[in-house]
Amino acid sequence: MTRHYNFCAGPAALPTAVLERARDELLDYRGRGLSVMEMSHRGEDFVAIAEQAEADLRELLAIPDNYRVLFTQGGASLQFAALPYNLLGAGGRPNFLHTGIWGKKAISEARHLFGDVHVAASSEENGHSAVPRQEEIVLSDDAAYLHYTANETIGGLAFDYIPEARRPDGSEVPLVCDMSSSILSGPLDVSKFGVIYAGAQKNIGPAGLVVVIVRDDLLDQARSDMPTLFGYRALSEAGSMVNTPATYSWYLAGLVFDWLKGDIGGLAAMDAINCRKAARLYAAIDGSDLYANPITLRNRSRMNVPFVLADPSLDKAFLAEAEAAGLLNLKGHRSVGGMRASLYNAVPEAAVEALTTFMADFEKRRG
Ligand code: PMP
Repeated sequence: MTRHYNFCAGPAALPTAVLERARDELLDYRGRGLSVMEMSHRGEDFVAIAEQAEADLRELLAIPDNYRVLFTQGGASLQFAALPYNLLGAGGRPNFLHTGIWGKKAISEARHLFGDVHVAASSEENGHSAVPRQEEIVLSDDAAYLHYTANETIGGLAFDYIPEARRPDGSEVPLVCDMSSSILSGPLDVSKFGVIYAGAQKNIGPAGLVVVIVRDDLLDQARSDMPTLFGYRALSEAGSMVNTPATYSWYLAGLVFDWLKGDIGGLAAMDAINCRKAARLYAAIDGSDLYANPITLRNRSRMNVPFVLADPSLDKAFLAEAEAAGLLNLKGHRSVGGMRASLYNAVPEAAVEALTTFMADFEKRRG
């Protein structure tokens, strides 16, 4: 059996140790004679799995007691709709920071559902190569909340600070963050946020699960016409089991949290590893004449590193040779072309070493 190095943007690499444990427990979960996939979500065993996963996530992110953790479904994209339903009950407009394709999708969905939205700042003018600075962010007088994307997965553009969300009169509104491609990559001050959400298929586990972390004063701000399954209060009161949850994805997420705590040693340790991985790859890009990354230094993503070849006619050969060398899924998003290496938590330092060695060798031969 060979496991290649997988740089996919999502669904992304999972830690080998997690997959091995899932394999060992697959047919017979701890002597129960059945798989986790085959258990009732309301049975004692699965409820224990679910509660442990939440407890471990709370410990990893030091989530304060006044926040609820939801394990829901529909992808991060469903939250683009669920958020305005949950937060616009008292009126006002959603405000957004527009820093790339995912932020834009969140804006489009809110606009599609509720009409007017306000874009409080955008990096469109610089081609999404630098995020707006705090002083450039201007909320509307009627802002209900401010939504932003911490890490734009396609553009490789990341915030280097947590924005403040204040209306022009100085009053604070909830800060809402799509952390799909950066959650758990390092420590986080959850108390700065009203809502954090993330699709699981990058740093949490397999697809099919979405984690929502919501401050409890925001559970009662919903519109009355909200679909039941969108509702943070309903999900919270039902332990995320309004209907059948994505049980196996939830279980695997729990194994990932356990791996982060035990094998890695927590998020500060993960942070240091992620810094080293990104530094190595960006150094390889910046030190070459063949590869280039367009993002301003302070906003370079540690999780998704897009790069282009000076001669795009070499793209095909680069990808084919990389794949032959066991370096998978380096093709850039179809909307931007070029290459992209995603360096999520489960991508080991050895993978980045192998990639940078391959890149240098390719440049020597073909550049
Ligand atoms: N937000 C971000 C930042 C993403 O990277 C993605 C998926 N790549 C999404 C939202 C959408 O996630 P999903 O496919 O789970 O709806």
